[in-house]
Amino acid sequence: MLDSKTPSKMKILITGGAGFIGSYLCERFINQGHKVICLDNFFTGSEENVRHLLSNDHFELLRHDIILPVHLEVDWIFNFACPASPVHYQFDPVKTLKTSVIGTLNMLGLAKKTKARLLHASTSEVYGDPHVHPQTEGYWGNVNPIGIRSCYDEGKRAAETLIMDYIRAHGLDAKIIRIFNTYGPRMRHDDGRVVSNFAIQALSGKDITIYGDGKQTRSFCYIDDLVEVINRMMLKPDFTGPVNTGNPFEFTILELAEKIIRLTGSKSKIAFKDLPLDDPKQRKPDISLAREKLGWQPEIELEEGLHKTIAFFKNWLEKNSIP
Ligand code: NAD
Ligand code: UDP
Repeated sequence: MLDSKTPSKMKILITGGAGFIGSYLCERFINQGHKVICLDNFFTGSEENVRHLLSNDHFELLRHDIILPVHLEVDWIFNFACPASPVHYQFDPVKTLKTSVIGTLNMLGLAKKTKARLLHASTSEVYGDPHVHPQTEGYWGNVNPIGIRSCYDEGKRAAETLIMDYIRAHGLDAKIIRIFNTYGPRMRHDDGRVVSNFAIQALSGKDITIYGDGKQTRSFCYIDDLVEVINRMMLKPDFTGPVNTGNPFEFTILELAEKIIRLTGSKSKIAFKDLPLDDPKQRKPDISLAREKLGWQPEIELEEGLHKTIAFFKNWLEKNSIP
């Protein structure tokens, strides 16, 4: 299955490399003996996430914003720069759209110039509030083009369009994965996404904030499973995607809250808050294509992943002297 022509030492650019997912990619490829340039503007990422790699001669940290062009000699590009949490991507929506559109355009230009292979992090948000369930790659989605999530959703959709047009017009070697909700250690404590919010709230005895009635569903993939499929996708010859990457185990947000309360032994109560606009009611990936083309499926069960994530946040709270 793997590309036998892949040289053992690659020069790899990871945009958004100091973020949650990007930092695991940096680690994975450094551990494989490749050279890694981690490019980040530190909007949501932090040097802390890659501090353990800084002493490695093969690792370089570059402060840069992908909405500005950059020239680097690289073999592979992982384009992961973009805030992913609704709280952060809605903070400066125009910047979010620029990051997805102009930023991706810059990375495509770089890939074209250097003949690099590019893998782009798209998202389940391209399906919007889906009418097809579970979501298959053939579904075109139900996205509000003018809502508060549009800067992210439409930005990611436009990025996919740009990539496909670069492939058709310039024969670029590019790949698209559509990442569904992913969680794990190194998420920010103030990330605003549901797993980090609930874990921090439960550990510090605060109310667990459920938006809406909690009956909306999601399917969460543990970070190690995601990193594995990203690696397989990059190595797979002649497969552009888009391919769904996520865990098809679906549950309601209320069930997630109850599970986290149980796992932490917390006395926190549930507090229901207003549901944000355009919040998708259901989400579950159909991963048949990833299974068929990449021989991949998630291995880590929700409870195991939550244990590791809760332990990370417990440690974070202790280190920062938050009772
Ligand atoms: P994150 O916020 O932790 O990481 C994003 C990184 O990109 C941060 O380090 C941030 O500082 C950097 N960044 C943002 N704008 C930039 C810019 N203009 N120039 C340079 N760097 C910039 O989020 P994450 O969860 O690690 O997500 C990484 C990628 O995966 C994003 O593209 C996101 O859309 C995609 N994705 C993530 C999920 C998920 O559940 N985590 C789901 C779907 C898609
Ligand atoms: N959510 C919630 N409480 C929180 C944070 C999120 O109930 O403190 C809900 C949110 O409304 C959504 C789901 O959990 O229905 C997942 O939200 P998240 O921001 O993690 O990801 P996304 O909406 O992008 O899937």
